[in-house]
Amino acid sequence: MSSRRYVKSKPARQLPADAERTRRAEEIGALFKQLGQTRGNQFPWHKSPDPFKVLVAEYLLARTARLVIERVYQRVIDHFPNAAALAAADPKVLSELTREAGLPRKTLGLIEVARRVTEIGEVPPNREWLLSLPFVGDYIADAVLLYAFGLPIIPLDRNFQRVVHRVFFGQEPPKRSIEPYRDPETVHVVDEMTCGYDARALRNFHQGVLIVAWDFCRHRPRITACPLSPHCALAWSLSPEVQIPG
Ligand code: SF4
Repeated sequence: MSSRRYVKSKPARQLPADAERTRRAEEIGALFKQLGQTRGNQFPWHKSPDPFKVLVAEYLLARTARLVIERVYQRVIDHFPNAAALAAADPKVLSELTREAGLPRKTLGLIEVARRVTEIGEVPPNREWLLSLPFVGDYIADAVLLYAFGLPIIPLDRNFQRVVHRVFFGQEPPKRSIEPYRDPETVHVVDEMTCGYDARALRNFHQGVLIVAWDFCRHRPRITACPLSPHCALAWSLSPEVQIPG
């Protein structure tokens, strides 16, 4: 943990000029990509080529801790290894298997998701179709397209938004009313960080951001332990011991 208490009201470091921000974005994008390459893709659904299993994992992951979901996902897949089995699931059995994840209404929506998949025989690489599923929003749809189908898309969630705003602007993201896909600063910086990346690079990059978000950049950031700290505007303003790269 950082020895320093996290203070939200600390003034943010001044935004660099655009050319400098683009250079920083490229540099930081490469760091995230490298981090994802070396430490990412650890969860079972990242190693599965089955789009249905990726959809189940991303569906469960939204709003729930990944370590809980790792256990819940494995239980669900062990009992219901494909869409047909899950479509025919007894809701009571599924509720029992997923109790640890909370959000019971949403979790039971998985049965409807599985039914929709069985109707057409597979999960299609189609964003509109994915968005038509219950409880599936932009992030889940894009995560399925990236991880299951290798499409060059970056899913944006609030974890992602928090990291971007702290690293680049040295402050917290906008209030909850501005969600990441409609936050122009997040979208612009992500575009700059990933310029020229193919789907494989985007996948590693996304994994790298998630590792920082999950392991270090929490509500109270672990600045001194974070591999991004030498490049992070919030770390510069909160931790004088952080060495800014020259
Ligand atoms: S140094 Fe790391 S943990 Fe701290 S604010 Fe920056 S990205 Fe988040």
